[in-house]
Amino acid sequence: MIHGATRVAPEKAVFRPALSCLLEPGQPERHMATQRKSISKRIRFDVFKRDGFACTYCGAHPPAVVLHVDHVLALAEGGGNEIDNLVTACAPCNLGKGARNLKVVPQTLAEKAALVAEQDEQLRGYQQVMEEKRQRIDEEVWRVADALQPGSPTNGMRRDWLQSIRMFVGKLGVHEVLDAADQAYHRGLHSDRRTFLYFCSICWARVKEGGNAS
Ligand SMILES: [Zn+2]
Repeated sequence: MIHGATRVAPEKAVFRPALSCLLEPGQPERHMATQRKSISKRIRFDVFKRDGFACTYCGAHPPAVVLHVDHVLALAEGGGNEIDNLVTACAPCNLGKGARNLKVVPQTLAEKAALVAEQDEQLRGYQQVMEEKRQRIDEEVWRVADALQPGSPTNGMRRDWLQSIRMFVGKLGVHEVLDAADQAYHRGLHSDRRTFLYFCSICWARVKEGGNAS
């Protein structure tokens, strides 16, 4: 007969306390030191993406700050780890809120490395959000250029004009600027330059209106 202990591969023969029985079936064992791991990394990054990788309270973003996930309704008050109950908070804002959801200072080299890796990932996430925003604005600028000079090739517009359009989109939003472009085009000035100047005058008037209204 083979003795029980020799049937088990050596690495599996390592004594495991009954702790694994406490974990739900199928769940990997967790390191006890990092309690905030109870929110999975995937959920954390879903929250970051929804919030544009910036702190909901103060707008800070990587690499200036490390992002945490904060509970709207604290766990102690009955809040859960559902995405609706979570917001992105920078470390200072989150930790400044007191004893809620205390973060554990990383103890081991492995934990420090994991934190650094996550900071890198947060920065890449933020940069991606910014890149998508830039692309969205680029598309908006081309839409306005099309409205001003329909039918002409989109890369046919002067660079400084495109920069002006970008500036107006930033100040007024794409809908206001598209509306101004339509208005200028339908004025029928028979000159790209005059149409563009008219467009600029409409936009500036709206910028000033907005400035006076507030
Ligand atoms: Zn903050």
